[in-house]
Amino acid sequence: MYNDERSGVGTSCRGIYYCELPKLDAIIKEAGLEHDPILIRMTGCPNGCARSVLGEIGFIGKAPGKYNLYLGAGFYGQRLNKLYRENINEEQILAELTPIIHRYAREREAGERFGDFVIRTGYVQAVSVGKDFHL
Ligand code: SF4
Repeated sequence: MYNDERSGVGTSCRGIYYCELPKLDAIIKEAGLEHDPILIRMTGCPNGCARSVLGEIGFIGKAPGKYNLYLGAGFYGQRLNKLYRENINEEQILAELTPIIHRYAREREAGERFGDFVIRTGYVQAVSVGKDFHL
């Protein structure tokens, strides 16, 4: 398992050392959010060892270099995330997330967590029943 030394809130299986997704860190810093933790969880397959379904941003590997992207879990573990984009590559992931992260930096309410923001602004619906996270 990998744990993000910067924020302490990123968790993934070991694939993170070999993939491009750490570029997300640069995007978060570019948006001025380096001191505002966003819970990111990534796993290489649906076994979910790093509990991707609990990430405000979650990734589950589908094939080499391809992931399902999930958004909207509760920062405190109070809500699962929801499928946002299916089977996309790393370039597509960064293209999807960059504008959302920058919008979050500009438009979030005081104290609003990223997972709550993406629900309030309509990117995903809140998951209130576990079986709905993948719909
Ligand atoms: S089983 Fe899947 S989620 Fe768990 S460490 Fe291996 S690739 Fe990652």
